[in-house]
Amino acid sequence: MGGPAFALKSWAIVVHFRLIVFTHSLLMKKGDSAWLKLITQALFPATCILCNRAGVQTRDLCDSCYHSLPKNTSCCLQCAEALPIVYATPMRCGRCQHHQPAFDYTIAPFLYQEPLSYLVTGLKFRKQFTHARLLGQLLAEQIQLTQTRPELLLPIPLHPSRYRARGFNQALEIARTVSQQLHIPLDLYSCKRKKNTSPQTQLSAQKRQQNLTNAFSVVPTFTAKHVAILDDVMTTGATSHALALALKKVGVQRVEVWICARA
Ligand SMILES: [Zn+2]
Ligand SMILES: [Zn+2]
Repeated sequence: MGGPAFALKSWAIVVHFRLIVFTHSLLMKKGDSAWLKLITQALFPATCILCNRAGVQTRDLCDSCYHSLPKNTSCCLQCAEALPIVYATPMRCGRCQHHQPAFDYTIAPFLYQEPLSYLVTGLKFRKQFTHARLLGQLLAEQIQLTQTRPELLLPIPLHPSRYRARGFNQALEIARTVSQQLHIPLDLYSCKRKKNTSPQTQLSAQKRQQNLTNAFSVVPTFTAKHVAILDDVMTTGATSHALALALKKVGVQRVEVWICARA
């Protein structure tokens, strides 16, 4: 008993205990999420998905790769289609002027080109869920800068058979991060996809529109007046239009579309 070994062991136990008490008191003072974020950052530092260098804070993308993303800087304010000229005031494209979509506004900060398309296909076809978090972070950053907040976030639902085949909904995986970062609740139950319209990529815009007529249903008890629907990529906008139409039928006044990339 006693001796230097025992003294050293007792000292180590006391130090360990004090460290636990100190960490716990910090957590209590500053709020769990801030400290948990710091601890997570220290244990799992962000790494760039595109080049493996260090990421920036919690974002799995380095500064240089961030600046290489194809930005959708000049686009239609309603459908986010890239415009050939940079206008001084926000403009609608010719298509939106002739056939107004049912949604009111679109945010699509990037174009569907490399390397952003790599992030989207990695999520969709190779189940790279870290890509969903990154896409959600990138989208949320743009929305924080420019927008008033909708009451609910609605990821565009997949038809149940497509959901079973894929095992997840990529729009929902991206929406989880956007919802967390912007503190907007996710609604996964009010909208359903009734028609399985897969795959649409070979169809013309007009055929897509016909194919999607009455593709979605919204519960009649839906009360929100301002919502944002969310998806990974917008090609013609036909899917967003169909869902926005169903939402407006139950009394929604403003439908925004939040999309990672515009094709
Ligand atoms: Zn990088
Ligand atoms: Zn447009």
